[in-house]
Amino acid sequence: MQAAVCLDFNATTPCAPEVLEAMLPWFSERFGNAGSAHALGVLSDGAVVHARNEVAALLNASPAELAFNGCGTEGLNHAFRGAFEAFPAKRHFITTAVEHAAVHALVAWLRQHGAEITVLGVDGQGGLDLGELEAAIRPDTALVSVMAANNETGVCFPVAEIARIARAKGALVHCDATQAIGKLPVDVQAWGVDLLNLSAHKFHGPKGVGALYIRRGLRLKPFMVGGGQERGRRGGTENVPGLVGLGRAARLALERLPAMDRVRALRDRLEAACLDAIPEARVEGAAAPRLPNTSLLSFKGLEGEALLLRLDGAGFCVSTGSACATGQKEPSQVLRAMAVPADYARGTIRVSLGHPTSSDEVDGFIQALPRMVEALRALNPFER
Ligand code: PLP
Repeated sequence: MQAAVCLDFNATTPCAPEVLEAMLPWFSERFGNAGSAHALGVLSDGAVVHARNEVAALLNASPAELAFNGCGTEGLNHAFRGAFEAFPAKRHFITTAVEHAAVHALVAWLRQHGAEITVLGVDGQGGLDLGELEAAIRPDTALVSVMAANNETGVCFPVAEIARIARAKGALVHCDATQAIGKLPVDVQAWGVDLLNLSAHKFHGPKGVGALYIRRGLRLKPFMVGGGQERGRRGGTENVPGLVGLGRAARLALERLPAMDRVRALRDRLEAACLDAIPEARVEGAAAPRLPNTSLLSFKGLEGEALLLRLDGAGFCVSTGSACATGQKEPSQVLRAMAVPADYARGTIRVSLGHPTSSDEVDGFIQALPRMVEALRALNPFER
């Protein structure tokens, strides 16, 4: 099989070689349970402590403020459900229309359990109206939850400003930083958030490990009760190899932040070349502050899914901006919230670059794409 060119690093990333190497001994000879009092256990516990320090350094948090967990989705569940259970007098939550699917599912869960939710809309560039946000906060607002960066468009929210507004009115602030880590500086002190979740597989760590930052003094209900691990916040024997990988990936993410400039230059070149070569093409959210690696490209008069399949056939992995709902190809919730015109929204693909992306790969994509778009449009001449 010809090696595929991955342009889908927002979906997941490969474990960096140094991350894999750091993890390996903890699967075999250093297999101790971090809770055991003997030498093997103490060795594992030391590794978990080290990993916690590395993640704390990445976020400018204190190590005790981190609860390790299984993924980004788990951190979101802990933040929302933990806040719901911890503050029974506060039954109002605020989030946005462009959050990850897990947040939409949690909104449904909260509604079923009697909470009231304000879902803030976005403008055509994916941005929030901060005046609307401020007006939505009530004395019984438990939590304002916003993502740092959108997984489809890469559009970034001004988290520090949002947190300042929300905390001044007495609400807690949660940030889903799953897509931001390793691509932007993330600083829980500077941002002033109370809760923030991350997931290792998005920044060259292993799958199945993540963390929730919980500001000192904030008492959430535990996500899983069990053997008292993670200071009683998440029971279960620690995934020592995974946590070692998360810690190593955290250090790498910090070291490699400056190298995101190279990725941004590649992404900008890709966008400019595509817009230049392809008529009736757009970059969604182009005028907003965006992640350096992400591009949501939309083309009038074709189906994003068909373009994805052609690209896949030619060895390029991307994703679409449409979700299949009841067999109908519907534009994603994000595209609908941004009111992207339907004839463009149907034809979107998300291209997300990463540290492994080479200039040659981008050149190959730039060469291949216009011909494919043209061929698909020729199949559907009446669509335009
Ligand atoms: N939040 C955002 C913005 C994401 O992009 C993702 C994954 O795509 C998640 C949360 C969920 O993370 P995980 O796959 O680790 O559960």
